[in-house]
Amino acid sequence: MLNKKSVDDINVNGKRVLVRCDFNVPLQDGKITDENRLVAALPTIKKLIADGGKVILCSHLGKPKGEPKPELSLAPVAARLTELLGQEVKFAADANVVGENAKAAVAAMNNGDVILLENTRYRAEETKNGEEFSKELASLCDVFVNDAFGTAHRAHCSNVGVTQYVDTAVVGYLMQKEIDFLGNAVNNPERPFVAILGGAKVSSKISVIENLLEKVDTLIIGGGMAYTFMAGLGEEVGVSLLEEDYKEYAVNMLKKAEEKGVKLLIPIDTVIADSFSNDANTKVVERGGILPGWEGLDIGPKTRELFADAIKGAKTVVWNGPMGAFEMPTFAEGTIAIAKAMADIDATTIIGGGDSAAAANQLGFGDKMTHISTGGGASLEFLEGKELPGVAAANDK
Ligand code: AMP
Repeated sequence: MLNKKSVDDINVNGKRVLVRCDFNVPLQDGKITDENRLVAALPTIKKLIADGGKVILCSHLGKPKGEPKPELSLAPVAARLTELLGQEVKFAADANVVGENAKAAVAAMNNGDVILLENTRYRAEETKNGEEFSKELASLCDVFVNDAFGTAHRAHCSNVGVTQYVDTAVVGYLMQKEIDFLGNAVNNPERPFVAILGGAKVSSKISVIENLLEKVDTLIIGGGMAYTFMAGLGEEVGVSLLEEDYKEYAVNMLKKAEEKGVKLLIPIDTVIADSFSNDANTKVVERGGILPGWEGLDIGPKTRELFADAIKGAKTVVWNGPMGAFEMPTFAEGTIAIAKAMADIDATTIIGGGDSAAAANQLGFGDKMTHISTGGGASLEFLEGKELPGVAAANDK
């Protein structure tokens, strides 16, 4: 369990509460195309309103690189939050984020009011955890709440710096839920515990593989990273994704798994293609049978069955990374099979954000999972066993 103070441990009546949320939502022509992150933030906001706080929300959105970019304004988020909450969320338009307009908006607040500040990354200091902007943010509030799991693996002004200049810094319900689910799954799992890793590169998930090998009963490796394992075993991988420098590492992981009695599964067949295109010519080949000049873009049907069988027997499953180039429907079958196998079992099923979360939601399996993390990078760092700076900065219980 998370040993940090939360919104349940404080009294915010009449106080100005700055809440760092993760409103980094996808926008198309000013419209929010996926509002999961807004919905996930509501429980904390509602609690603070009910307790009589003056609720000042802040977040980053995209990468404006330290200057105002109208297309990355949080104004559309304020409008949608107003609808979701059923009460006005006033937008404090301000190119400086904490400028005269924002200060005036805060000064005019009554208990239970909600305002949203402008995109924190309009300020260049934000991502550098600079002192000045941290102090400015702190000057707006009496209490700070961090509910932005998606940025918890970064030390920025609005989630870490600000905590140095406020007396009370606690976590919100979403942060607490994320850490509890991921933490329990990894550190106190009901067994058998199966982890599935996919995605493009071994190099980006080295520490995750190492940490999970200490914890799981079965580790499944699919996606582009599997070819580095195959190449390490001396097999032909054609022009599949390959990280030459990590072949030896991959073989060492296979050995380590064997020593530890962890089952490490890699694909036994592969869907190969003659080009990186949804309309490419494709073939299914057995392990070792990838043709020169062809590339593996998905796990094959026998592998889908092998992986689904391993998932079937599990009591805890954690998944991060697609099994193939799933954005192209021709190569989405492996990723669909994993989502479906997880949806079908009676177990704790957790998706660690990013592409696999998007895939599960798009495929309609989202509500069948125990927990889908709102943070891709943050959940990966958590699975690496690292302490997240955004969480560490909150007051201990
Ligand atoms: P990551 O960000 O490392 O989780 O990688 C996700 C990306 O890996 C997705 O865009 C997938 O299309 C891509 N990917 C997964 N498997 C393959 C593969 N076999 N070949 C090429 N790209 C892949």
